[in-house]
Amino acid sequence: MRRILTQIVILLLLSTTVALRAQGSPPHVIVHGVWFLTGDTNGYSNTVVIEMRDYLIVVDANYPGRAKELLGVTKQLSPKPVRYVFDTHAHGDHAYGNSVWTAAGATTLAFQGVTDEMNRWEPTRWRNAMASRADVRATGETDVQRPQMSITGDKLVLNDGTREVDFLFLGWGHTPGDGYVWLPAEKILATGDAAVNGPRNKLLDANIANWPKALERAIALGPLHVLPGHGDAGGIEILQGQRQFLIDLYAAVKAQADTGKKPAEMQIELPAPDNVWFPVGRADLRQQDIETVYLEITSHAPAGSVPHEWR
Ligand SMILES: [Zn+2]
Repeated sequence: MRRILTQIVILLLLSTTVALRAQGSPPHVIVHGVWFLTGDTNGYSNTVVIEMRDYLIVVDANYPGRAKELLGVTKQLSPKPVRYVFDTHAHGDHAYGNSVWTAAGATTLAFQGVTDEMNRWEPTRWRNAMASRADVRATGETDVQRPQMSITGDKLVLNDGTREVDFLFLGWGHTPGDGYVWLPAEKILATGDAAVNGPRNKLLDANIANWPKALERAIALGPLHVLPGHGDAGGIEILQGQRQFLIDLYAAVKAQADTGKKPAEMQIELPAPDNVWFPVGRADLRQQDIETVYLEITSHAPAGSVPHEWR
């Protein structure tokens, strides 16, 4: 009997470990009332939760599976309801959970460029995601739910007397709709994938030449805490490193394109600090980055504006 009980206890402990792992690492308190939750399992993105006087703001809806987990996580963080969910951009790992949040009573919002991107690329990308992701299939929906509120212009300020939250559009970088969330008093900046911490860039929808300029505007804010769309939180060095990587990659590809080389013939080596962002361990992703920069250079237009498939 005791052996059976021991086995049951071990099984329970194992299932708890699995459940905790599925939830990602524990929420990291940036300042009182602002939490950073890393994703990076099942293709999930990071999440930021901001506590206001009467409600919570969630930055990035995430994939539907993670959105469902986050409904529970936010309840553990605070009894206040999630009122707003901000999509930093239109990619599935940031926005496909929209309908999970709105069913729970939240309002989704994003810059107009996010809806425009969805209207351009969906539901093709959603359908492709359905083929590979059970959580997208489980929604029973055939298209991504568009943000319920679109922000026109380049700034929206929420201030309830306890905290100011600025939603900022700083230019087309990772995608045409890139939104940043800036807490001016706390000097916290959530970037979505406009800045990532690690070799996690996707350049396919980007304006690679303009992206560093958007990041310069972000750097000029002087953030103390930078909360990226993927990878660990840090400081302003994430913005500076991401910016320098894009500048160096563009220049290296351009130098070889100018000599008549095609992407397949290019050997691109970047200064060592750039290798945080350049996927040195993945030849396929490196090649995709090189091809995307080459496309932008040779088409004289933002890479993301040229018809392309998501890979
Ligand atoms: Zn993205």
